[in-house]
Amino acid sequence: SSTTDFLRAHIRTVPDWPAPGVQFRDITPLLQDPAVFRVLIDAFVQRYREAAMRVDVVAGLDARGFILGSVVAYQLGVGFVPIRKKGKLPFTTVEETYELEYGSATVELHTDAVKGGDRVLLMDDLIATGGTMMAGKKLLEKLGAHVTEGAAIVDLPELGGSARLRASGMPLFTLLDFA
Ligand code: IMP
Repeated sequence: SSTTDFLRAHIRTVPDWPAPGVQFRDITPLLQDPAVFRVLIDAFVQRYREAAMRVDVVAGLDARGFILGSVVAYQLGVGFVPIRKKGKLPFTTVEETYELEYGSATVELHTDAVKGGDRVLLMDDLIATGGTMMAGKKLLEKLGAHVTEGAAIVDLPELGGSARLRASGMPLFTLLDFA
């Protein structure tokens, strides 16, 4: 669609970053231009304003999920909760460790961030292997919340993450793909 093409034109591809062979999809140009930022945020807000999509809280994944999630939450009139890399949250947390290509990562969520039965929109900038989003979903479910949908700007379908997340029963909404 025209929105997709417009947004795609404002994603910068940085070759060989952070490692040789990686094509990093940099979303910062989308945030920097106020007209583009508005189109980006409105694409999410429109979808989650629908009654059938009702969300009680937006959870954002460290760190670009904070930028998107907090603005979307504000526009929807709901609260925002951060899912952070281990060691950053001061209160009691639940944690989830997941495998990366090299090593592992742990993410945390405050135990009072969501209540049992809350309907949560889980946001990040990009889905690659899906590991980060899956870990976020598990954290929210540990606290009895329900992830209504995972949302991101970019999907990298060739890495299989979005397919794995959907196969696990998690609905996903992404604005555009890069092969
Ligand atoms: P995954 O866990 O493999 O799906 O990787 C997704 C996470 O890594 C997200 O939090 C992204 O912000 C980050 N990430 C991986 N690749 C890229 C990229 O090309 N651009 C921006 N973020 C990326």
